[in-house]
Amino acid sequence: MQYKEIGKTGKKVSILGMGTMRLPEVMQGNEKVIDEDKAIAMIRHGIDEGINYIDTAYMYHDGQSEVLVGKALKDGYREKAYIATKSPVWLIQKEEDFDILLNEQLEKLQTDHIDFYLLHALNKERFEDTVLKFNLIEKMEKAKEDGRIGHIGFSFHDDLETFKTIVDATDKWEFCQIQFNYIDTYYQAGIEGLRYAADKGLGVIIMEPLLGGKLANPPQVVLDVLGDAKTPVESALDFVWGNPEVSLLLSGMSTMDHVKDNLVYADRANVGGLTEEDYELYARAKKAHDDLALVPCTKCRYCLPCPSDIDIPRIFAVYNSIAYENEEKARNSYSKIDVGASSCIECRQCEEACPQNIEISQVMKDIAAWY
Ligand code: SF4
Ligand code: SF4
Repeated sequence: MQYKEIGKTGKKVSILGMGTMRLPEVMQGNEKVIDEDKAIAMIRHGIDEGINYIDTAYMYHDGQSEVLVGKALKDGYREKAYIATKSPVWLIQKEEDFDILLNEQLEKLQTDHIDFYLLHALNKERFEDTVLKFNLIEKMEKAKEDGRIGHIGFSFHDDLETFKTIVDATDKWEFCQIQFNYIDTYYQAGIEGLRYAADKGLGVIIMEPLLGGKLANPPQVVLDVLGDAKTPVESALDFVWGNPEVSLLLSGMSTMDHVKDNLVYADRANVGGLTEEDYELYARAKKAHDDLALVPCTKCRYCLPCPSDIDIPRIFAVYNSIAYENEEKARNSYSKIDVGASSCIECRQCEEACPQNIEISQVMKDIAAWY
């Protein structure tokens, strides 16, 4: 296993972190629950082979992931691994809720301290309406002072501008967690956000290195670019590890084979070693992937806000997923969107802002007709 210091925390973490949101499950009556024996064996095997960063969250597996991690880290494993978990910011309605939730998490994890504590899934709205309103950064500092948490961070899902605002809002952040892979280089924080945060001294943890598992089986045109010297998974992970600003990546492993394969990839990864040629290769793979899209939307979000409150890039992403997955899945995802394409009033103000020159109002009509 290879290790890197995470930001300026002085802690050395394995470049491969164990994500626990996709643990193996079994049926119990009509309910799916974590397959405890398998999940504990996976986590312990990972730690035995050098993984020292276990990532969970209050809401993973309907609240059971933290409980499972607590059990897995008994019998001497707690001393060998850092725990990272996240505060469910959306459940905080008043200042005291922060401590109530944190204490509950400590109990579920069967520990008296959480090494890396994150405010979960920050976006502009949550940051302004909850984090600032209820002084959550000060609450984190107090929890750090009294020893309940070790280091302060946040995970993020919004645009680059919001990311920079949050990074710059306080000098208390020690690390952050962003979505990043060779397809999402310009999505959300993206590569610019990665470099921005690292430049400010933050450790940067990467989630979704496989784009929700999709890069384990990318379209053939992408494989044609990447070649077959490595598996698609190793190619995707190597892209992330190859960026020198990355502290570690999280892989949400579901089987012991995933753990074993990822351990091999982590051992031979060329950490921070991507060359210009490598970046070009991955950029070509991304282009081959993006060219399959029905709408060439890069998710930059310049078109927002829409007066009809349509989340334009989200609708396009769902529509584009027809090309990568299947139509039924796309229809199912579309059905969960509150404001659909048929709400478009054809004002075309979004089209003036779109750097891709997409005829958005026309595509909205096409999507409404498709659905
Ligand atoms: S054209 Fe349609 S999608 Fe674009 S801003 Fe107007 S209402 Fe929204
Ligand atoms: S401005 Fe264009 S490319 Fe950017 S998110 Fe909107 S539709 Fe997509």
